[in-house]
Amino acid sequence: MQKNSIERKHYSLGIIFSIFIISMASIVAFTLYNKNLNTDTDFQSKIKEIGYGKVEAINPFVLEKSENTLDKTTMNIELVQEIKRVYNINVIYGENTKYLAESVDAKTLYNEQDINKMLLELIDNLSKYPSNIFKEIQLKDYDVEICIVDYFTNDNIALATRDSNNNFKIYLSNVDRIESIEKSIHHEMYHILEYYMKLEFDINKLYEEWNSYNPKGFEYQENLELLDTSYVYKYDKEDRTYFVSIYSKVSDKEDRAEVFADTMMADEKPSYYTDNLGAIKNKMYLIANAIKNSFYSVNYGTSIYWTRFF
Ligand SMILES: [Zn+2]
Repeated sequence: MQKNSIERKHYSLGIIFSIFIISMASIVAFTLYNKNLNTDTDFQSKIKEIGYGKVEAINPFVLEKSENTLDKTTMNIELVQEIKRVYNINVIYGENTKYLAESVDAKTLYNEQDINKMLLELIDNLSKYPSNIFKEIQLKDYDVEICIVDYFTNDNIALATRDSNNNFKIYLSNVDRIESIEKSIHHEMYHILEYYMKLEFDINKLYEEWNSYNPKGFEYQENLELLDTSYVYKYDKEDRTYFVSIYSKVSDKEDRAEVFADTMMADEKPSYYTDNLGAIKNKMYLIANAIKNSFYSVNYGTSIYWTRFF
């Protein structure tokens, strides 16, 4: 009897000890895994308040109403309010962007019908992001604003800027004037995410493996006229593809924005996910990991759109 009870005590102590070890191991693993995420407790309680991976969506009734209402002027105001409510992003256009547009060599867009089309495109593409990702950026007091313009008078089709107060802005050209509004949105969005990662984390550490997925001896080239098609996806042989576009060869941050946008836009798994070399796929892995280690809303989000081909 006694022996038995002693044994049982050992046994239960053993269980308690195992549970303790397992819990400690999980805490250590969790801490290691999240080593890049913000450790600021004030920030953590704020992000907890908005709900880490919580997903909100644009009210479908507003979208339906927008389709059926002829007066686009009031509808556009409602759509802008919805974007603000769900993503905490300010969208500006028309008279409000007059001086801003001039400062980046762009023409202001006034046509409410065109603006309506742009807002619907924006809503469609924003739905591919965790709704709290931009709120998370704004919790750190960076402002995120999207400025809709008609067109640029220089070679630009879209632009992302960060001013001296660290306010982030995206400028998008009128959808009717460019080849792909989707590509512009996701390319510039990536720049915004990277601005945040650069200000809040050690970006070089996040991307320390980046150059290992470039051809040996390769160097980025800022002069667009000197860029060629070698190593570019769909131009060069499949086992020699390292870049999704010619423009990717400008700089590492443009390379990342191009890979990210290409994956966001793809209707089906691009062949660089299955080719022998996998350099572009590995670049996308690095990007996805860097974002995951920088944003709670991604780390806790259930399905992250840009990882759907992994
Ligand atoms: Zn860019």
